[in-house]
Amino acid sequence: MISIFAQAEKHLEKTAIISDGTNYTYSQLLDASKAFASTLLDKNTDLNEARVAYMVNPGFDYVRVQWGIWRAGGVAVPLCLTYPLPSLRYTIENSGSSIVVVSPEFVELLKPLCEELGLRLLTTSDSRLATSDSQLTTIDSRLATSDSQLTTIDSRLATLDYRLPTVSASRRAMMLYTSGTTNLPKGVVSTHANLNAQISTLIDAWHWSENDYSICILPLHHIHGVINIVSCSLWAGATCQFLPSFSAEALFDIFKEGKLNVFMAVPTIYYKLITYWESLADVDQKEMTRILSKFRLMISGSAALPVSVMERWKTISEHSLLERYGMTEIGMALSNPYDGPRVPGHVGYPLPGVQVRLADEQDNVIPGTEIGEIQVKGPNVFNEYWQKPESTAESFTPDGFFKTGDIATMDELGGYRILGRNSVDIIKSGGYKISALEIEEVLRTYPGIDDCCVVGVENDEWGELVSAAIVCHEDFDTKALNAWMREQMPAYKTPRAYHRLPELPRNAMGKVTKKDVVNLIKN
Ligand code: ATP
Ligand code: MG
Repeated sequence: MISIFAQAEKHLEKTAIISDGTNYTYSQLLDASKAFASTLLDKNTDLNEARVAYMVNPGFDYVRVQWGIWRAGGVAVPLCLTYPLPSLRYTIENSGSSIVVVSPEFVELLKPLCEELGLRLLTTSDSRLATSDSQLTTIDSRLATSDSQLTTIDSRLATLDYRLPTVSASRRAMMLYTSGTTNLPKGVVSTHANLNAQISTLIDAWHWSENDYSICILPLHHIHGVINIVSCSLWAGATCQFLPSFSAEALFDIFKEGKLNVFMAVPTIYYKLITYWESLADVDQKEMTRILSKFRLMISGSAALPVSVMERWKTISEHSLLERYGMTEIGMALSNPYDGPRVPGHVGYPLPGVQVRLADEQDNVIPGTEIGEIQVKGPNVFNEYWQKPESTAESFTPDGFFKTGDIATMDELGGYRILGRNSVDIIKSGGYKISALEIEEVLRTYPGIDDCCVVGVENDEWGELVSAAIVCHEDFDTKALNAWMREQMPAYKTPRAYHRLPELPRNAMGKVTKKDVVNLIKN
């Protein structure tokens, strides 16, 4: 059996999920996922790694569909809820999905595509229960809305016999597409064993327990939301609440209920929460600080956490954010300590069971204090890029380490500091290699800069020219900024040009898409 189900079995009567104002127990989740698996299987005995794409709202439905796919022996391919049709088509076609599952509101959008491609389209209101027995249809809809009769419904469900395949850990389980920050998103295939390793490592490292209560505010087609928050919560027997669409106000209202104790977000969300907190009256600010200070754990990841955001959040919440580093291909690899100091600008140490090293361009291992590429090996590391055997082969060293493309350095104690992605954040200018992240850190501290990003723009003389895109108010003086920057950093690192933009282009994870910035600057 897939490990997360065995874990869930230990907490049958506990609340697993809160979504749309309804509490769902682990028992309901397990039963509903079996029912959905049975619908997916139809008359088959095993989906045998068939890809099932699903565009399902965050919450109980999302998880029962995902678990249903796993139980039926399929590969879960979550779709982004905000993608336009061409991007959805890309993911569905690229993954070779033969079944598409949608929340009812997405039927209209995806039905014509499914008809054109000859794919089976199911909605979350379909299930074997709904099709085979009219009485049980009522049960299914009750499950979705929950009421006092659920106990009766539970016992009826339990008597249903689902013949589900045995799924071994070495099978493909999930295909997540990378965030598309640097290029077209790549389909990353992970096995059940990979996911088990990714989740169980975090359960130990971050001390997850059944007493935890988390909230998911991130999209569920990326690893941060689907593994670190939702799967870890459910593996631990904790309760996971869902906020369907993010607003700082709605989130603060949930904080005020005082039940949450674990919170994870990307740096842009922390920035938005800080701005919202600052807009509150004195008394409300104090109240919020009192509530936030009681959390057990607050984590940031998916992009570099600006030191200024970490410091401001500490004043607001009395928490030193735990910053960690990971990616779709490897899950999490580096984490600041649960106990012990969390160093601003550092992503911490290798997680247990994960081997991490720095290497030069020829893949020779280098001493930590030098600058090199992060390479990772372990049971957490993915199997393959979907139908890209060459990219897969190129991404691994002969001794089996995955080449992340992220550049870092290490301190004397073995803690890592990320300097950025080799492809966009390491600017090669006049023979120097310059970290865009380091310059952004300094820029951000200058008064009047709301947002910024540093890129290399092709230049005949310098190779690349360090250029900054800044979001600032109208009467901002870039000359004064330039003079100030030259006092802060060596001249070769300071931007040669400053470009004002109304806002920075970002993807669904709030990451700045630097290629778009370069295009905006050039035009
Ligand atoms: P694509 O591969 O399509 O360009 P992506 O790399 O953004 O997109 P993800 O796998 O979601 O897709 O993100 C992983 C990347 O995010 C890492 O390779 C790294 O560059 C960045 N990242 C994650 N955590 C951190 C962190 N704490 N600090 C800096 N960068 C981080
Ligand atoms: Mg990537």
